[in-house]
Amino acid sequence: MAESNFIDYVKILCRSGKGGAGSRHFYRAKYIPKGGPDGGDGGRGGHIILRGNKNMWTLLPLKYQRHVFAGNGQSGSGNRSFGKDGEDKIIEVPCGTVVFDAETGDFLCEVTQDGEEIKLLRGGRGGLGNWHFKSATNQTPRYAQPGEPAIEKSVILELKLLADVGLVGFPNAGKSTLLSSISAARPKIADYPFTTMEPQLGIVSYRDNRSFVMADIPGIIEGASEGKGLGLRFLRHIERNAVLLFMIPADANDIRKEYDILLNELTRFNPELADKHRVLAISKCDMLDDELMAEIENDLPEDLPHVFISAVSGLGIQQLKDMLWEAITDEANRIEPATITHRRLDGHHRVREEDEFLFENTPKEADDDMLADEEWDDEEWDDSWEDYDGSDDAR
Ligand code: GDP
Ligand code: MG
Repeated sequence: MAESNFIDYVKILCRSGKGGAGSRHFYRAKYIPKGGPDGGDGGRGGHIILRGNKNMWTLLPLKYQRHVFAGNGQSGSGNRSFGKDGEDKIIEVPCGTVVFDAETGDFLCEVTQDGEEIKLLRGGRGGLGNWHFKSATNQTPRYAQPGEPAIEKSVILELKLLADVGLVGFPNAGKSTLLSSISAARPKIADYPFTTMEPQLGIVSYRDNRSFVMADIPGIIEGASEGKGLGLRFLRHIERNAVLLFMIPADANDIRKEYDILLNELTRFNPELADKHRVLAISKCDMLDDELMAEIENDLPEDLPHVFISAVSGLGIQQLKDMLWEAITDEANRIEPATITHRRLDGHHRVREEDEFLFENTPKEADDDMLADEEWDDEEWDDSWEDYDGSDDAR
């Protein structure tokens, strides 16, 4: 099989930028040898941001990008100058990209909309410069906050296809044939060799210039939900399909039984799939006469609408499209993707932790180790500023 362009799984090491250190600087000028503290704040470290892009169909562009590091914030400096913020790094992903923590497997977030931005890792905040710490009791603070550290996380990006219709059936049911016969256009990702190893997408044109997306999922065999066969890895692609199109060939031994097996596999993988709207297509009906069709019709599962089709002769294809369109556009049948209910990582839940970090790293008393400039005589310095009232005018 040729190398596929369809990449639905990548692992990337991400690191936000660390915050710049606050400055420990004291104002000095020719006639003002000992000005007050004027060290500025450090800049914020860069964020790692995910952004949805509807023109992307695959995670291929990220396949060779093993890591994404945002820029560090710069240190603050004298004259209350702020350090520059570190550069944010934006990772563009297709809509339908789900992000997991690579170490714990925890769900982190999901990008569903074009242009949607999710802060995956927050850049460290810059430390406060020493001028923040002057007070009536300490007019010459020689300490400043360090910047917050960077956050590093290895993440897995996984793409879920956002198809309107998912084809469900055993190998040889005629799924690929149907898709290729009714697809008006194929997105770029689908131009790999004809194979059932990869999910294939087709854009099906409907009346009045409308269209919907149909996905051919590689054959599900019995036991797929337990990891047998190829089906499992691809089953996740149908979780998001609005409608499931079950396809069973007319020459199957027992259509009802095949349908039960398929449905059972799906719901064992994810019980919510049972809630999706279903349509049953009996395929390869060009081989049937009316008498046989009537016979089959008498023994079909009752809980879903059905249609007899043939991708070869065109029998029932328009009727099938009508049924699918009706199901897709029926709001009552729309089921929100299950993962939407997951906790979303927006960076804010980390704040408590970060506040503790700053608290621990901000000395309550002057600490000689933290002196920015060792040239001053501490004792003399402190003595000369005993009367300082903390106001800016005083210097
Ligand atoms: P898939 O495994 O479900 O994708 O099935 P395929 O589309 O690859 O089809 C399996 C076999 O059934 C192929 O040999 C097709 O030529 C044949 N086939 C598919 N659709 C029809 C049909 O409508 N009529 C007939 N007679 N044969 C079909
Ligand atoms: Mg196929």
